[in-house]
Amino acid sequence: MNKQQNGIKLSFLGGVGEVGKNLMVLEYNNEMLVIDSGLAFPSDDMPGIDIVIPDFTYLINNRQKIKAILITHGHEDHIGALPYLLRELPNVPVYASKLSVALIENKLKEHKKIKCKPICVKPKQVVKIGNFQVEFVKVTHSISGSMALAITTPVGVYFHTGDFKIDYTPIDGDAMDMVRLAEISRKGVLLLTADSTNAERPGFSMSERKVGATLDNLFVQNASKRIIIATFASNVHRIQQILNICEKYNRKIVFTGRSMLNICETAAKIGELNFNKEIVVDVNNMDKFEDSQICILCTGSQGEENSALTRMANGEFNKIEIGSNDYVIFSSSVIPGNEKEINNVINLLYSKGASIIYESLAEVHVSGHAYQEELKTIHTLLKPKFFVPVHGEYRHLKAHSNLAKDLGMNERNIVIPEIGDTITINKNVIKKSGTVPSGIKLVDGYEVSEAGGIVQRDRMQLAEEGICIVTITISAKNGSLTSKPDILTRGFMTIKGNEEMLEEVKDVLLNQIITANFKTQDWSMIKGNVKKTLQTYFFKKCKRKPLIIPIIIETN
Ligand SMILES: [Zn+2]
Ligand SMILES: [Zn+2]
Repeated sequence: MNKQQNGIKLSFLGGVGEVGKNLMVLEYNNEMLVIDSGLAFPSDDMPGIDIVIPDFTYLINNRQKIKAILITHGHEDHIGALPYLLRELPNVPVYASKLSVALIENKLKEHKKIKCKPICVKPKQVVKIGNFQVEFVKVTHSISGSMALAITTPVGVYFHTGDFKIDYTPIDGDAMDMVRLAEISRKGVLLLTADSTNAERPGFSMSERKVGATLDNLFVQNASKRIIIATFASNVHRIQQILNICEKYNRKIVFTGRSMLNICETAAKIGELNFNKEIVVDVNNMDKFEDSQICILCTGSQGEENSALTRMANGEFNKIEIGSNDYVIFSSSVIPGNEKEINNVINLLYSKGASIIYESLAEVHVSGHAYQEELKTIHTLLKPKFFVPVHGEYRHLKAHSNLAKDLGMNERNIVIPEIGDTITINKNVIKKSGTVPSGIKLVDGYEVSEAGGIVQRDRMQLAEEGICIVTITISAKNGSLTSKPDILTRGFMTIKGNEEMLEEVKDVLLNQIITANFKTQDWSMIKGNVKKTLQTYFFKKCKRKPLIIPIIIETN
């Protein structure tokens, strides 16, 4: 056996150098474990795309080696691509916590063909999977049921924090298992991979409980108003606090937004959310109560187009009309990239007379990711030999790497990964050892397509360059043209004022196709020539490259 085979390998299909679509592969000889399978949200240059998922080629090529998929927690950037991965690997067992299992099952309802039944695991539970022994460790984060992984491999212990913060006063009273961390550390930790999201932020993150105190104050100060709170549907502890405050001040709660209803129902069913059912009022019965007796809990904290809050702001939510007695709380952060949309919703709400409060005005939100001092605690406690920062853009990974160096770790023992990298770790050395196929796939409805594929290119071209449809009518009898070609354009020139140019285009086309023989010539070739002629013409005349669609119609 050569040295390479004696090491464990860690490959990255997402989640490094970016925020989103977390997916790592741990490998030893002929066995692989997949850690998380998350999605990312599309950027502006992906019109019509719902979500972005990692390219699974590496996993598909090695399907017989994959022993399990381990899920750290139920956020979309960790489970969002799971249905698409399970389409490719239908028989691989999935391990996850109770809430994660419930959220995954919810998701799989929309993917009827997948028969996977995720296996529910609890913190402290140890599962033997091939050569690996996987222990799940309780951590605190902005969703309950979050777990770190302590994986004993034939080479040594690998610890992955998953997303975490150290909250000493969590809402469920169940703090991160620091005792277990210390015990694991005593065995010696070979490799640590840890959440880098807030590696640039000094100090400690605030406890989730602080948000509860702020919200409580806001409820008192705005006792006569109708309160509307937008937050992340998956933040079950935040929602629990809001429910408690509503109960305390005798307000009824109205859930709006599909994911809010979905997740709250799921969480309540498995006992992760606890409240008196009588405080819930259906949106249709809301007008039986005074404004001061109502709290509306909704999605849309990121200004998402079809979310409940955006529809309210646009005046498109027919059961809720925003007015001057509304107090809107954004109990959320601004996810980079969403600034414009959120700003737009805030402006619309203000224009309807509502009062608004958001993160920069009061402590109505806390981050779910560890700040520098918390990261230092984990490094100091676990004392890993090697370190790989994960879950963050390059700057976050770099900051986390610097933090490890400040704590005395040798630079040679740290590797900052990029998507597609494989890192090999044996008892004495960590190094980048190669790459695996990686990239992105785009999901549009249920369809998965290549990035930059034909549909995508057409959409970009339509959006940026417009469209030109050419109709050529010929006689079915002899294949001759029955009239001048007809031209319809959208998105790059108006008919009005361009009549002359349009006539000229028709003539140019006519000159070209007049010699074509529609009886004997291949139509696709004729269409190809039409496209070429028009492309050259439009580019010369107006520096545009519209999508050109020639249609040939036979008439009697
Ligand atoms: Zn995450
Ligand atoms: Zn998370």
